[in-house]
Amino acid sequence: MYVMQTYARLPVRFVRGEGVYLFDEKGNRYLDLVGGIAVNVLGYSDQDLIKAICEQAQKLMHISNLFENPWQEEVGRLLVERFWTKGRVFFCNSGTEANEGAIKLVRKYFRERQENRYRIITFYNSFHGRTYGSMSATAQEKIHKGFEPLLDGFDYAVYNDFDSVLRLLRKDTAGIMLEVIQGEGGVRPAHYEFLQKIQELCRKEGLLLVIDEVQTGVGRTGSFFAYEQFDLKPDIVTLAKGLGGGFPIGAILAREEVAQAFSVGSHGSTFGGNPLACACAKVVINKVSNLLDHVKDTGSYFKGGLENLKAGKVRGMGLMLGLDIERDCSSIVKRALELGLVINCTAGSVLRFVPPLIIQKEHVDSALSVLSKIL
Ligand SMILES: *Cc1c(COP(=O)(O)O)cnc(C)c1O
Repeated sequence: MYVMQTYARLPVRFVRGEGVYLFDEKGNRYLDLVGGIAVNVLGYSDQDLIKAICEQAQKLMHISNLFENPWQEEVGRLLVERFWTKGRVFFCNSGTEANEGAIKLVRKYFRERQENRYRIITFYNSFHGRTYGSMSATAQEKIHKGFEPLLDGFDYAVYNDFDSVLRLLRKDTAGIMLEVIQGEGGVRPAHYEFLQKIQELCRKEGLLLVIDEVQTGVGRTGSFFAYEQFDLKPDIVTLAKGLGGGFPIGAILAREEVAQAFSVGSHGSTFGGNPLACACAKVVINKVSNLLDHVKDTGSYFKGGLENLKAGKVRGMGLMLGLDIERDCSSIVKRALELGLVINCTAGSVLRFVPPLIIQKEHVDSALSVLSKIL
């Protein structure tokens, strides 16, 4: 009645959560394999996260970026320590903002060098967000429709098709931006060789390599950043979703030389990286760093179980998995919900599983038994 109708909402009202479970107003329990779309990495009601929020809220929630912010320095250090080289972080509040800032940083980097390069190659089926820059980077007609004209400066290549990238290369190409596993696009991983060639091309042509880790980052695939498993050395990485464990926070991480292109006044955010958001990210980064082996282990167990269902193609890494049933999967999501299992359908035919990273094998077993009943 009072909220704009931008979402097709499922008919359930969750009132609380505990670990990997959600509970509705009637007290029914649901096993959650969506985790707020790859957000609730520590599950629900994580006591360390709650404690950090309460303690920080008691002291100071927000101060604006007019003042020194040691909380940002601390989270910045934790992220840079996990990066492949020296770097710096800018904090924002969401994935689309992180990508928006990354696009600005790419353009600014070349302007600083007096080079007239601004175009960014992105990929069909990608998803980078809903604001103008990120939406324009997102090569999906259904997301653009009705909002044209888009932001200029994006050229769309075919994912995993290196020749299609080469064909788009121009004198004013500044960078290449991609997800190493396309999330919303249907949990489609890039080929290792494809990414190696992209990285080689970037090095040769002086292009910036931007990896959108908004969904794949923060331990989701079994390494802190998914790019690590593809042996990449990106210039810029964007994060959000899981970073605050449910509290909104996003980040742009760039290697030192690239980060220097942003100077005082180049970019900003009122809320970005406030003490409360940073208190959450600190807990999440520290806890997730101890979960990486668990994610790999549980993820491959889950993947094997999905393959055994023989219900379609299984794709993904760690706890970012997709089952492509090659027909509309929205009715399956509804059926699963009735049986107490929360799953998501993306790209029309792909069941996407991005559960809390604390999920155990016994939960996976019970999810698989519900899925086998439905499929
Ligand atoms: C979800 C997502 C975004 C957008 O994040 P928001 O926080 O919804 O703006 C961007 N990139 C990728 C890869 C995502 O999965």
